[in-house]
Amino acid sequence: MSDSYDVVVIGGGPGGYVAAIRAAQLGLKTACIEKRGSLGGTCLNVGCMPSKALLHSSELYEEATHGMEKHGIKVGKVSLDLAAMMAQKDKTVGELTSGIEFLFKKNKVDYIQGLGTITGPGSIKVALNDGGDQDVSAKNIIIATGSDVASLPGIDIDEKQVVSSTGALELPKVPKHMVVIGGGVIGLELGSVWRRLGAEVTVVEYMDRITPEMDKEVSKTFQRILKKQGMKFKMSSKVTDIAKLKSKVKVSVEPAAGGDATQIDCDVVLVSVGRRAYTDGLGLDSAGIKTDDRGRVDVNDHFETNVPGIYAIGDVVRGAMLAHKAEDEGMAVAEIIAGYAGHVNYDAIPGVVYTMPEVAAVGKTEEQLKEAGISYSVGKFPMTANSRAKANLQTDGFVKVLTDDATDKVVGAHIIGADAGNMIAELALAVEKGLTAEDIAYTSHAHPTEMEAVREAALATEGRPIHM
Ligand SMILES: Cc1cc2nc3c(=O)[nH]c(=O)nc-3n(C[C@H](O)[C@H](O)[C@H](O)COP(=O)(O)OP(=O)(O)OC[C@H]3O[C@@H](n4cnc5c(N)ncnc54)[C@H](O)[C@@H]3O)c2cc1C
Repeated sequence: MSDSYDVVVIGGGPGGYVAAIRAAQLGLKTACIEKRGSLGGTCLNVGCMPSKALLHSSELYEEATHGMEKHGIKVGKVSLDLAAMMAQKDKTVGELTSGIEFLFKKNKVDYIQGLGTITGPGSIKVALNDGGDQDVSAKNIIIATGSDVASLPGIDIDEKQVVSSTGALELPKVPKHMVVIGGGVIGLELGSVWRRLGAEVTVVEYMDRITPEMDKEVSKTFQRILKKQGMKFKMSSKVTDIAKLKSKVKVSVEPAAGGDATQIDCDVVLVSVGRRAYTDGLGLDSAGIKTDDRGRVDVNDHFETNVPGIYAIGDVVRGAMLAHKAEDEGMAVAEIIAGYAGHVNYDAIPGVVYTMPEVAAVGKTEEQLKEAGISYSVGKFPMTANSRAKANLQTDGFVKVLTDDATDKVVGAHIIGADAGNMIAELALAVEKGLTAEDIAYTSHAHPTEMEAVREAALATEGRPIHM
């Protein structure tokens, strides 16, 4: 006898748990299978949340060490209790993951702890974490198995000397020198954490700029700011070898275009070269579910795989590997299964780098608009001219709004600023709802807030900012 459901979700990350809750809200009998032993997936356990906890704590440490005097606050000797900082991060993670368990109970989602393998359309075998198997049948299966760390050929991640993001979230002591392979979001966030706590940090990046998918002006400015903070960069370079010695690691770096290798000695290497779709043990082959050339589960616009009744969402399918993208897809797929018109607008998904200052973007970059041959206007407003940023002594960065000349609609926005991650929300709403720069410009923005810079940038698309 197997337990039977309307919907079974495999994977309890932001994609999976949101899909399960939404399906249950819509009256569908729902279960979620998760093998990790706690809910929340990569994001809550080893991703977004522990990294944000350490980013906040390390920012406070850096402020206390040398950011307070300019505010007229004299601080005595500041010292770091890394174990306590890590314990605080772990406590946050524990509270958040058990919060999802509470939400499952509240919404009557059955939580099955174990590894789920699809054995055919509508049937799943679960190898239970507590031992034994459980057969589950479902009218609809949602694959939400997420992603895992990617490495480079020949590089062995031991999570001690050579770490992934997971190891970098729990180093027992501050390294003297950390080499970060990959100048993407995760490498720069975690590199910032350890630099603030006292490590020398060198980022090795294959391309000629960091976060290369960002608007070029933004990524160039971002790199300049990080360099000013003390982060070192080796651009257009590739790591060709890592030799682990007893007390140090020797990293061989060559120019990306070829040439002589140089060596960097360090004590920890962080490999942050991306993530890969995770489908191990899922039984894709035996269920006949197709994947693409990067191993991601192939889906159409309605999140359907090639096998009827089996859907997939989140990091395991195409698109940005972001928690809120997975959540949006989770809501949409549950609504589609329940007979509604679930939909995700991929043009309006914001991306944020949680460094200080933060960097945030939504919609198109200038490079993308040029390539598409779209005539556009740029409205830019520097944070140095924003009164609140000035009062807070946080004037690095700017807001840039891009509008389509044919319609005045906002088609892209890019922000560097202390609060960019929150500020981008207004512009995401503008892109999602097709608002114009004028709509933003004629909306009252509270004074004094950093958000006024968004209004000024909207005014600047028509050449009429007030405070510049
Ligand atoms: C260090 C770091 C920082 C990040 N920071 C951010 C951020 O600030 N903002 C942001 O938007 N994104 C961030 N991300 C990305 C974010 O974590 C992912 O995009 C998000 O977790 C994807 O959600 P998901 O539900 O698709 O998959 P996941 O969160 O990966 O969840 C999948 C779950 O499925 C389980 N699973 C897999 N196979 C099976 C199986 N066969 N049976 C049962 N269970 C299974 C796994 O154990 C896992 O818990 C970060 C990632 C990392 C690594």
